[in-house]
Amino acid sequence: MLFKDIPGLESIKSTLKRSVQNSHLAHAQLFDGPHGGASLALALAFSTYINCENRTDEDSCGICASCSKMQKLVHPDMHFIFPIATSKKIDGKTSEAFLSYWRSFVLENPYRVLPEWLDFINAENKQGNISVEEARGILGKLSTKAYEGEYKILLIWKPDIMNASSSNALLKILEEPPFKTIFLLVTDQSDRLLTTIVSRTQRIAIPAFSDSEVRQFLKRHTESDSLAKQVTFLSDGNLSEALRLIQETADDRSEWFADWMRSCYKFDVAQLVKLADSFDTMNKEKQKGLLEYALRLFRDMLIWSQGAGELLRVPEEELTFVQNFSKAVNFAALEKMVEEVNTAYYHIERNVRAKMVFLDLSLTMSPYFKRRS
Ligand SMILES: [Zn+2]
Repeated sequence: MLFKDIPGLESIKSTLKRSVQNSHLAHAQLFDGPHGGASLALALAFSTYINCENRTDEDSCGICASCSKMQKLVHPDMHFIFPIATSKKIDGKTSEAFLSYWRSFVLENPYRVLPEWLDFINAENKQGNISVEEARGILGKLSTKAYEGEYKILLIWKPDIMNASSSNALLKILEEPPFKTIFLLVTDQSDRLLTTIVSRTQRIAIPAFSDSEVRQFLKRHTESDSLAKQVTFLSDGNLSEALRLIQETADDRSEWFADWMRSCYKFDVAQLVKLADSFDTMNKEKQKGLLEYALRLFRDMLIWSQGAGELLRVPEEELTFVQNFSKAVNFAALEKMVEEVNTAYYHIERNVRAKMVFLDLSLTMSPYFKRRS
């Protein structure tokens, strides 16, 4: 991973590069950013830069021996610790046993989140864990002298899931770190870390990707500009979510949603039953996705109806729909609709029959529309 592979975030990239150029490397750094953000990608680009034999002010060279090993994540001075779980696919109790899977997971896409990793390894429970044995084994991992690079680097992904004993084992090491070793802690939930760990690190606050950075990234995955816009709008700077959405291109949410709202407006029960049947056949993720989409649009309509239209990030094609819709329901009704959709979402998550949830939601929302009778 090179800095240039990561869209945007120029200011944070310069800060990181400068710290290497001025040899101001804190021995423990906390890459603290949002879900689906750039934290892991940046930590990897930073590690590559630290050990590159031919770096420029801009980036790592990408071709020296160190860079090419970093590109495959096989550099002998680069170590990883990450959550693991019992899996039918892999036998082992530490990150080491999962390493080849970890490499493919990260190389495919470094913006993914913990549940995706646990899916990737066919984890039997959906928690993931960094054991105290793993934390205590850190010093052993790092005991040899740096083979090739100037520094040994240990990247810990998701230290926030460590329990108290693992955290304390890590803390001990951070208090007396081995020479020429850099710890990079990568988290999207820093509020769950022990404050004593946080205070031992230099915090690098990583902002979410902006809309234009997400759009720039999506150019590699779709040629459709309007799809890219729609996905950008929905993903809120979360690239993991953006990729998931782009892979669902076949389902055209906006059309489906418009049809649904029209049927509610007309109180067309026959059509609502049909829609409920089709909703019932979708998988749970897709059902939740549609409700999330509805929530997002309702929230934007609330903003619109308060006269703060310029705040909207709605793609142009949907703007007319939002404008017309806002005329058909009043503010209080919209607020109630948000509540109803939230309840439906809750029920879907808890496996209540989707058809009933959807039909019930539609029939509850229909009277909220102002009809011109
Ligand atoms: Zn290089």
